[in-house]
Parts: sequence; C-alpha cells; structure tokens
Amino acid sequence: MERFLGDEGIAKNWAYPVKHVDPSAPEIAIVGAGPAGISAAYHLIKRGYRAIIFDDHTEAGGTLRTALPPYRLPRSLLDAELERVLTLDGITFQPHTRLGRDMHLNELEEQYQAVFIATGAQRSMEWSIDGVVPRDLQSGFELLKQWVDIGTVPTPKSVAIIGAGNTAVDMARVMKRAGVPEVHILSHKPIPKPGIPIEESMPAIPREIQEALEEGVIIHEYRGIRRLILRGERVVGVELVHMKKLMQPSGRLKRIAFEGTETILNVDQVIPAVGQVIDPTGIERLAENHSRLQVDKWGQVIGHPGIYAGGDVTPNAGTVTAAVGDGRRAAEAIDCALQDKALQESGEASSIPFDKLNMHYYELAPHVQEPTLPIEQRIGDEEITTSLSAPLIIKESKRCFSCGNCLACDNCWMLCPDSAILKTKELASSASHYVFDYDYCKGCGLCETECPCGFIQMVDES
Ligand code: SF4
Ligand code: SF4
Repeated sequence: MERFLGDEGIAKNWAYPVKHVDPSAPEIAIVGAGPAGISAAYHLIKRGYRAIIFDDHTEAGGTLRTALPPYRLPRSLLDAELERVLTLDGITFQPHTRLGRDMHLNELEEQYQAVFIATGAQRSMEWSIDGVVPRDLQSGFELLKQWVDIGTVPTPKSVAIIGAGNTAVDMARVMKRAGVPEVHILSHKPIPKPGIPIEESMPAIPREIQEALEEGVIIHEYRGIRRLILRGERVVGVELVHMKKLMQPSGRLKRIAFEGTETILNVDQVIPAVGQVIDPTGIERLAENHSRLQVDKWGQVIGHPGIYAGGDVTPNAGTVTAAVGDGRRAAEAIDCALQDKALQESGEASSIPFDKLNMHYYELAPHVQEPTLPIEQRIGDEEITTSLSAPLIIKESKRCFSCGNCLACDNCWMLCPDSAILKTKELASSASHYVFDYDYCKGCGLCETECPCGFIQMVDES
C-alpha cells in the first residue's frame, strides 16, 4: 500500500504539505543526507526552520544509494523522491562536505541553531576466527558498495558469507548475479518460519531470504565457523559446527557449539557481513569510544545540548523506517528546545493482539501477491518486486482489519442488552462515535466480544 502511494506521489507530483519558509528563519545543520537526515530536514521546514544538509558524497541518499542493490531500490525512484524533497523551500543540500575534514563540529555549533548528526555506520566491524584473518579480506558492506558503485565483485568458484542480516543476504544475491556458482550463507540463526519467534530468526527481511533461496543461495542455519582452513594465506575451506541457543542454569539463553557436529565446507573466499560501527571522525567527543552515539528517545545526544542524532549512527533498529522516524522526532525536539516548549509524549497506541479480533466478521481473503520478476530474469538491476495496480491495491486494502479503530459497525450499540451504549454525531473518543454510559453497563462483555476489531476492551473497575 505504502509503495503504491509513494509511486503515485511521484507520478502525479503530489505536493508536500509545507509552507513557504522565511529566508531569515533559524537554520539547522544536518550532517548526512541519508533517510534520517532527509527526514529531519523535511520535518524542520514543516515547522518553519531552514535546514542545510551536508554530505561527503555527490548525491544524497546515504546507504540507500551507496549500498542498497538497485534490484531492491531502483535509482530512478530514489532520485525522483529525493528531488521532490531537496527542492522544497528552506532546504539546502551541500555535497562534497565531510565532517572532520571540510568542517568541524564546533563550527557547526557556533553557526547554526542546532546540529543533527546522521552520518550512519560506515565502518565494517572487525572480524577474525581466533585472530586469523585471510589475505585480501573484504567485508560484505564494502563489497556491496563496490558492486553498487562499479558493478564488479570478486568471482570465486564458491564463497561463504558470514552473517544473517540484510547485508549478508544482499551480498549473497549480488554474488549470484556476478556469476559465482556456489554461494553459501552461514547463519547462527534459523530461516524465519512458523513456530520460531521472529527475534530468534535471521534478522534479514524474510521476503529477501526467500528470494535468495529461490535464486540458489544455500543457507546453513545454526552454523558457526570453528576454524578457517588456509593454504598459505588463502582460504580453501571452513570448518563448521552446529550451534544452538540453550537455556542455562542462570535462566539465560546461551549459544552453544555442539561437539562432534563439525563438517568441512570447501570455499575459495569468506566474506564477513557481521555489522557496521560508526566512523568517529569529526564526532570523537560525542562518540566517547561507544560504537554508536548515545541518545535519549528524542535523539538528543546525551551530555551534549543542541546536538541531536538519528539513523544508524545511533543504536536504533537499523531500518530505513526507524531512521525516518528518528529524523521526525529530532525535528520535534529541536523545535521544542528552540521555542522553549515542553516535548509532548506521542502516547504510542498499543497493538491489538490477534485473539482480540472477532474473525466471524471478516471474510477470508488471500494476500494479493505483488508482481515478482521470474527467477531466470533476475540477473541485472531490474527491480524484483514491483507495485500493485490500482484495482489490486483496492482489493488488498479491503483485507485491513482496521484493528484498534472503530469501524462504526453499530454492533455494540445494537447488541448491548442494557442500552448502555449511545451513538453521537460527535467524535466521542479517539476514532469512535459511541459513548458508554457506565451507570447502565453491567459489565457483561458482550460488546467487547462482538466488536470485530478489538476497539472495545474490558478493564477492571479498580
Ligand atoms: S459490557 Fe455489556 S452492558 Fe456494558 S456496554 Fe458492553 S454490552 Fe453493554
Ligand atoms: S466499537 Fe466496535 S462494535 Fe462498536 S461500532 Fe465500533 S467497531 Fe463496531
């Protein structure tokens, strides 16, 4: 649904809901033109500020541009969306400008009303097996950037990629596209499947994992590397061992290697894709030896008033969505700090568990499948999963349970045996036109049971 709306916004050039920004309005410095920085700039101009975005690259986009394979995010879409935002009144984009080289943090603090750091996590974590590192080791993150930049990667006969996240899966799929016949992913965690808690599964996007399997990537679940097998300084294989998390007497889960389960996998290259850390250049005094900047929930860097941070430079969820949210929250915090206003808690809505929905009121409707490129055509940059057509989007939208939102179905109003529910023309509470008269309610719970979407919840009077 979101994808469809995004495409429509670009195709029809929907206007962003922003006003003219006063050229003398206070200006905020943003370092990093990735999703967090772009989001912060947009939300700042919505609040009447000017935003200047510095980035050391020629073009905006951050890792969306430098490390995300085009088959997942076509550059035409990225360019079109960024063009729409960066040309908004009040936003200035200054490329080729690197913090710690072309400008310094204290200068930004002096020149601007606030500073938002969104430089991402640009360094691959160090990796070795018992201190052993093969010659010419390159990380998955570096190789992905190389592939996106110049379209080539090494092409051994077989490769083992170590990791379970999106970088590992992207790297594996890129190696397949580059012509590597045998691509293995070695993962401590299992492939997501029913019965396995999501937090215990590979953290990569399940659909991407599925597509990688379809494309011939071999995933070894619950496997760790016991040792590297080298000829000289070159890898010729890895010794794998079965690993699983087991409950310890302390009550904590610990990953254990099972003796006697060792197997040899012959590979010509290993590629670690085990995560990134920040490059502290220019932000040394904020980083204080942490692998990420420490921020409060609004993105204020702890102990550094006037400096905010978001996206992968902070310990957030590591997704584009989380980065965009970080930018919005920081813009709100900056606005409140500059206007001397109190920050308002957003009061996040709690999610409605499935068993609170009354499925008798919904028709079974299968998920509408997005058009997906056939496996044999997945060789280049062509996008694999594309948008649904308008009629299919309407069909898909009808599957929405609207959980937690009143559907105005009148069930509760009609079925209450004590006429304790009144209907109003006004919005009586958040998203509902019904009022409960507790003087008449005897607490039978019928309304809660017959509410399709979990909007009504019984709570103890105490
Ligand atoms: S709990 Fe029973 S009496 Fe009370 S409002 Fe719901 S249906 Fe009516
Ligand atoms: S509260 Fe629930 S049952 Fe009552 S009108 Fe809304 S959706 Fe229907």
